[in-house]
Amino acid sequence: MKCDAASVAHCDELESLRQVFNASPDGVFITRMADGRFVDLNAAALRMTGRDRLELNDTSTIATQMWCSSADREQFIGQLAQDGSCDDREYRFQRKDGGQFSGLVSARVVTIRNEPHVVSVIRDITARKEADEKLRDQEALYRSILDASPDDITITDLQGRLIIVSRAAHRIFGYPTDYDVTTLTIQAFIVPEDHIRAKENIERMYDGTYFGPNHYKGVRRDGSVFDIEVNSGFIHDISGKPNKIVFVVRDVTERIVAERKIQELIEQLEHEKASAQAIAMTDGLTGLANRRALDRALQMEFSRFKRFGSAFSLLLLDIDHFKRFNDHYGHLAGDDCLRKVAEKLTATVGRLPDLVARYGGEEFVVILPGTDASGAATVAWRIVDCVNSLAIPHATSETAACLTVSLGLATATSGLESHHDLMLLADRALYQAKAQGRNRVAAAPRVSATLV
Ligand code: GH3
Ligand code: MG
Ligand code: MG
Repeated sequence: MKCDAASVAHCDELESLRQVFNASPDGVFITRMADGRFVDLNAAALRMTGRDRLELNDTSTIATQMWCSSADREQFIGQLAQDGSCDDREYRFQRKDGGQFSGLVSARVVTIRNEPHVVSVIRDITARKEADEKLRDQEALYRSILDASPDDITITDLQGRLIIVSRAAHRIFGYPTDYDVTTLTIQAFIVPEDHIRAKENIERMYDGTYFGPNHYKGVRRDGSVFDIEVNSGFIHDISGKPNKIVFVVRDVTERIVAERKIQELIEQLEHEKASAQAIAMTDGLTGLANRRALDRALQMEFSRFKRFGSAFSLLLLDIDHFKRFNDHYGHLAGDDCLRKVAEKLTATVGRLPDLVARYGGEEFVVILPGTDASGAATVAWRIVDCVNSLAIPHATSETAACLTVSLGLATATSGLESHHDLMLLADRALYQAKAQGRNRVAAAPRVSATLV
């Protein structure tokens, strides 16, 4: 063709259009509307058919079975016939090798040589569709994980607006299953008194100094309050910046009730243990320390004496003619008498570290820590006097008209090996007090090396 200046410009324009036409990544097809006969295709369109240009001479979209569904083509042509154009319609197409793809089609009807033709631009969206599908699969997977969790898993934006909420949230916070909780903010689920603390904990997450879990009072829809445990963490965007927060919320009411019950049980057991220990150390008749408690106290006091040299004395008390008392007044009166003597002893021996114990039968022991022989003698004689002042009649006593006691006194000295030695000395002194006429105190001689 011969070109003048105007037609040169026109040729240039046509050439650049052709370049755009061929360079387009989308397939551009020009086909005859009546039978789908190919008139022209760009390179991308050729790739979509899977054929070369020669193969497409004198053939059509129908003959090459490019449309997967002929009904689709009919519908497409129908719309074009009616509107002259169509935009962004999705259809399935197939290549020569039978491989299929999804195409997004926009088309216009144009008239070429007095015949209606169709210019179609087809974008292969197979990869995008697959990616969308994968995304949907992943979303469904995450959703099922969220919904399978017995804990509430909630994702919010950085302002606390709810984005995703797992199914458990409705149950835990008492909302109907069809209630759209994403209309709420995270603050709606915590008592107002805990808001500031919750905010501070989120701020600590930014500092990296956060250590969960945190415990708050949760609020149900009906306003009732319960205990929740919350673990939280940031979700980051691709640049690594936090853009969402995930909260895992657990209803710990039952656990806290159980923990409280366990604590109560432990306290009860400790209390029972303490009282059992006290019972094991107490004489049932008089309420005084028993022989076991006495042995322990004596042993401890003796080792303190050995280590620090702290003086201490021991009184062994025996009721005079108690067998006769029992024989005359009866065993019950005897028991009653033992209780009275025990009470008197406790009242008379006043200092805090002093210990009064029932040694057995009608015998009692008084440990007097930090007390030398003369101090112990003062206490012992006070006991003698106090028992006399009880004035318990004892008609068959050889010693007095009323009940009396005798005491043996021993003071720890360096020659003693153990607390048993001290007891032995006190016992000997008691024997002397009895021999000297009862209703009195006798002190053991100070022994330095041997007891024999
Ligand atoms: P003595 O002045 O030499 O100590 O004479 P005694 O009769 O007190 O001496 P002995 O040790 O022979 O008698 C102790 C008596 O104390 C024997 C028992 O009748 C009485 N007795 C011991 N334990 C109890 C007790 O738990 N209750 C009562 N009611 N009497 C007891
Ligand atoms: Mg006796
Ligand atoms: Mg006696």
